Amino acid sequence: MKGIRCENLHKIYGKGDGATHAVRGVNVSFEQGTFYSIIGESGSGKSTLLYLLSGLLKLDQGEIFYDDVPLSVMKEEEKIHLKRRISLIFQDYQLLPELTVRENILLPCLLHEEQADQAWCDVILDRLQIREIENKYPDQLSGGQQQRTAIGRAFMTKPEYLFCDEPTGNLDRKTSESVLQLLMEVRDLCDPLIILVTHDLDIARSADIVLHIEDGMFIQD
Ligand code: ADP
Ligand code: MG
Repeated sequence: MKGIRCENLHKIYGKGDGATHAVRGVNVSFEQGTFYSIIGESGSGKSTLLYLLSGLLKLDQGEIFYDDVPLSVMKEEEKIHLKRRISLIFQDYQLLPELTVRENILLPCLLHEEQADQAWCDVILDRLQIREIENKYPDQLSGGQQQRTAIGRAFMTKPEYLFCDEPTGNLDRKTSESVLQLLMEVRDLCDPLIILVTHDLDIARSADIVLHIEDGMFIQD
């Protein structure tokens, strides 16, 4: 299967009495090219799941398959290659304050030591309507502009897997809708598997498939 499959994922933070079982036995498949949303209350394990899928956190138990290849058998080089196919939009943007909008968007290419595709960067800036502010710094931007910069950065590498952590969490309704529209537009450009987590049902409904998470597990409606 093209996409990502999770088998019995578990993640526990801490040890002993203070331990939190944040993800507890997740079994789910995400097909390539499809847009999924995962809805759940604060603390239900949404961010933890995205960090596991992104390789930012280590699993305590279970297996993740990327195009049927189990993560546990991948060699270091394969993991590096996999990480290049993944983009994560962080809830709090995580823009670098010392870099301009354009430099923030180009950053993944610099980190991957790739020749940055300046023309693709221009397309992204235009589509996200942040071309005029490309030389500004994050602290000179509105929340919506920072959000669009974070989305632009996620698209710079033309990711196969795009994970969005509450991408509209700090935005008003109108700006949220325009962010979703932009996500849909840019989706046409590289056809990724999108997984968007949110606690907002209106936002979640824009996805092809809506999943519900509660207390670290997927639940049936
Ligand atoms: P969500 O994104 O749905 O709000 P999280 O994945 O952030 O949920 O958190 C799931 C649970 O794990 C919560 O109980 C949270 O307090 C706990 N948690 C998250 N990150 C950590 C951490 N770094 N250390 C300890 N507990 C954590
Ligand atoms: Mg979260």
